[in-house]
Amino acid sequence: ESGLYIVATPIGNLGDLSPRAIAILGACEAVACEDTRVTGKLMNHAGMKKRLIRYDDHASDATREHLLALAAERPVALVSDAGTPLISDPGYKLVREARERGISVVSVPGPSALIVALTLSGLPTDRFLFGGFLPVKDKARGDIFAELGAVRATLVFYETAPRLVSALGAINAALPGREVAVARELTKKFEECRTGSPQDLIDHYTAHTPKGEIVLMIGPPGEEPAADLDIDALLRAELG
Ligand code: SAM
Repeated sequence: ESGLYIVATPIGNLGDLSPRAIAILGACEAVACEDTRVTGKLMNHAGMKKRLIRYDDHASDATREHLLALAAERPVALVSDAGTPLISDPGYKLVREARERGISVVSVPGPSALIVALTLSGLPTDRFLFGGFLPVKDKARGDIFAELGAVRATLVFYETAPRLVSALGAINAALPGREVAVARELTKKFEECRTGSPQDLIDHYTAHTPKGEIVLMIGPPGEEPAADLDIDALLRAELG
């Protein structure tokens, strides 16, 4: 079947490449990917050789045109280096364009680091807000915590190991009382998920320099005990 197939790939454990992903990749005419070397290795592992086309959202219109023209006639897969395409990864513009042109878009789901991290963290999962990569600069990072600090949801961010301690420092400054979780090396041999106050985690990761890829999570603000006054005001507003 022609169309654009959004295929999730493992985030560290090759066993997480699903049978359906293997079947679809095998049937595709070409695979659009961020890095042909990284995806080449995955294809080798799966015992396949396919045409790999480098694609990201900054790719030229000509590359996107080429992929869309191909997907209109034949099955074309989009993969990321790891995890689910479009989630802090390229693909949004391609999917949008494909939909506008009536090209079928099919998702072949699989791992995404943010979901794996949430399931391990012990933080509430009923409401969460994925914030993508935390900004690097102090000011921008502080602005994010000021903006999202009051949101009643677990906040989830992608972060890199060298910046972890400084990010925790920013959380400690902006949201000191909050429970934080750090998930690292998910689905890999040294997978870990550690929770505590921002200061606990600063102490730990200052003593043990973190390596690898990281998901940083911040628990929701505690329930403020509602003052009687507020309830009266609410009732009045409701009846009023
Ligand atoms: N599309 C991917 C997904 O669905 O998870 C995310 C791509 S984003 C460019 C890469 C970031 O995801 C890393 O910097 C890290 O924050 C997170 N990540 C990816 N793999 C991970 C892993 N095995 N353990 C922890 N975090 C991971």
